Amino acid sequence: MVVVMKLNSSAEEITRVNGRLQASGFQTHMIRGVKRIVIGAVGDKQSINISSLEAMPGVEKVLRIMKPYKLVSRESKEENTVVRVGGVNIGGTGLAVIAGPCAVESEEQLINAAQAVRRAGANILRGGTYKPRTSPYSFQGLEEEGLRLLAEAGAATGLATITEVVDEDSLARACHYVDMLQIGARNMQNFRLLRLAGRSGKPVLLKRGMSATVEEWLMAAEYIVSSGNENVVLCERGIRTFENSTRNTLDLSAVALAKTLTHLPVIVDPSHATGRRELVASMSRAGVAAGADGLIIEVHPDPPAALCDGQQSLDPGEFAALMKTLRPVARAVGREI
Ligand code: PEP
Ligand code: MN
Repeated sequence: MVVVMKLNSSAEEITRVNGRLQASGFQTHMIRGVKRIVIGAVGDKQSINISSLEAMPGVEKVLRIMKPYKLVSRESKEENTVVRVGGVNIGGTGLAVIAGPCAVESEEQLINAAQAVRRAGANILRGGTYKPRTSPYSFQGLEEEGLRLLAEAGAATGLATITEVVDEDSLARACHYVDMLQIGARNMQNFRLLRLAGRSGKPVLLKRGMSATVEEWLMAAEYIVSSGNENVVLCERGIRTFENSTRNTLDLSAVALAKTLTHLPVIVDPSHATGRRELVASMSRAGVAAGADGLIIEVHPDPPAALCDGQQSLDPGEFAALMKTLRPVARAVGREI
C-alpha cells in the first residue's frame, strides 16, 4: 500500500507515520514527488489498522496497490521519474541518446566512436566491457582495461558513460569507472544482481529479458527500487517471436504500455531489437514517436571490423544522419533534443 501524505505535512508527521509502519513490520520507502511525499509500505496489511493510520496527522489517504509491483507503479507516484546520469536527465522533456560501440575494443576505436557520437548530439557513451556472448569462443570484452578506456573517453569528451555488468565482480569494478550500470536482457531475472544494483548507488538501465512479459520486467525493476535505488531506466530491446528475419521483434506497444504502468523512464534499443543496420533509423524514430524517453544505439567507427554486433552498428555518418531526422519527430511529440 502507499500512504499519501498531505501537501503541507511536516517532517515530524512523516517520520511518525513511517515509524508506525515500520513498527508494524512494513518495509517502507519514501517516494518524493514534486508536490508531495508518499510512503510506499510493503508488508502484511492485516498487521495494521488502516483507518487509524488514515487518522494520523499529516496523512491524506491510504491506497492499496493491486499490482504485484508497488514502488515502480504509477499508482504509487503519478509524475514521471527523472533519472540523472552525470549531467544528463532521462525521463524529462529532453530525449536522452546513448550511443557507442557494442564492445570497447581499443583506445582508438572507443575515442573515435565517442567523438563521433558526441559531435552528432548523443549525451551518454555506451561501451560493453564484460560481454555476455552466446558463444564462449566469441570476444568476451576487455573487462577492467575496457572500463578504464571508457572512463577516459568519457572524460575526454564530457559524455556520461554506461557499461553492462554481469555479476558481483563486474558490478563492483564498474562502479569505480562509469556513471550508469546496464543489466542486460540475459540477466533481467538475475535477482541477486538486481539487488546488488539496487545497493550500488548508480543509476541502472534495465533491459527487458528476451522472453519477459511487461509484468516480469517491472517486477525486475521493483527488485532494484526496493533495494534502495529509484534511479532505474527501462529499456525495450526486442523480444523473441516466430519472426526470424529480424534479430528480435521490437515491441513498441510495450513502450507505450510501460509508460502508463510505471513512473520510470522507458527507452528503446533499435540495434538489438532489429539486428539490422538498415532498420535502426526507422525504429529509432518509431520509438520516439511511441513515447520513449530515449534511445540506446550501437555506433562503431568501422562496423565491418567490429568484434561484436557489427551488422547492427551504424557508422558515424549514418548516426549523424539519424540524429538529424530524429529532431523533427522528437519535436512533434513534445520533446527537445
Ligand atoms: C548490449 O547492449 O550490447 C546487449 C548485450 O544487449 P541485450 O542485453 O539487450 O542483448
Ligand atoms: Mn550489442
